[in-house]
Amino acid sequence: MTQPLKIIIHGAAGRMGQRLIQLLTEDPALVLAAGIDRADHPALGQDAGVLAGVGPLGVPLSARFDGHADAAIDFSMPAASLPFAQRCAEQKIPLVVGTTGFDPQQRVQLDQLSSQIPVLVSANFSKAVNLLMHLCGEAARVLGDTSDIEIVERHHKFKKDAPSGTALRLAEVITAQLGSSRLVHGREGVTGERPKGDIGMHALRTGDNPGEHTVVFGLMGECLELSHRALNRDGFVRGALEAGKFLAGKPAGIYTMADMLGF
Ligand code: NAD
Repeated sequence: MTQPLKIIIHGAAGRMGQRLIQLLTEDPALVLAAGIDRADHPALGQDAGVLAGVGPLGVPLSARFDGHADAAIDFSMPAASLPFAQRCAEQKIPLVVGTTGFDPQQRVQLDQLSSQIPVLVSANFSKAVNLLMHLCGEAARVLGDTSDIEIVERHHKFKKDAPSGTALRLAEVITAQLGSSRLVHGREGVTGERPKGDIGMHALRTGDNPGEHTVVFGLMGECLELSHRALNRDGFVRGALEAGKFLAGKPAGIYTMADMLGF
């Protein structure tokens, strides 16, 4: 029988970390090797499984790890991700990074570690969102010349930035097919006829919405809409766990969600 893959969760006491531990324990192909969080976290030393509400796993929440694992999954914060990634490189542990907000220099440092270990960094681990991006690229390739493209995103009212990083990434994917485009945020007043090549961007903020993205390709006489709706965090968590399985045993290098999903 194949042994389950040993997985380290970094940021284990966080919202994503807790859900990662919950869903990891439901997967017989995976086992928790370590749950890591910051050195001053009040729950340090408590059983990581009890903390996540799945019962004792015999793995205390700790501030560092020793020994080997098949993959590590990081959902923490940029300043914490980098030393952790360095440690994974030293211990030759494949690394999945879901943390967002790296500055360009931090991102370069992270990418450089891929000469020593396999690394997959993604700002969105939802398989369906990554498929949406791929499909939008295809739609732009086929319809881009003749369609008016508008992106509508909805998020909870507490979100600090607009438009969302995912909406901006969708616009990039579409622009890569169009050659060039102009992003137009919202629309007001006497705007005149819609210029060709614009991508309209609209950000709605209501309630506790975990995130929706719709891309509209409007033609004369017909309209194509591609939509994704997140109902909770599980899409990101499941995608990250799958990325851990995907990286285990791979040679050093940078990997992407597109590699994992076979686009
Ligand atoms: P959170 O604040 O709930 O959890 C972060 C955890 O990291 C906390 O437990 C915190 O104590 C821990 N941490 C902080 N400093 C640390 C250190 N020095 N060492 C170890 N652990 C440390 O946040 P969250 O909602 O779980 O999100 C975490 C990250 O994941 C954010 O950057 C968020 O934007 C990102 N995120 C990415 C995706 C994706 O699909 N890529 C999806 C959701 C969230």
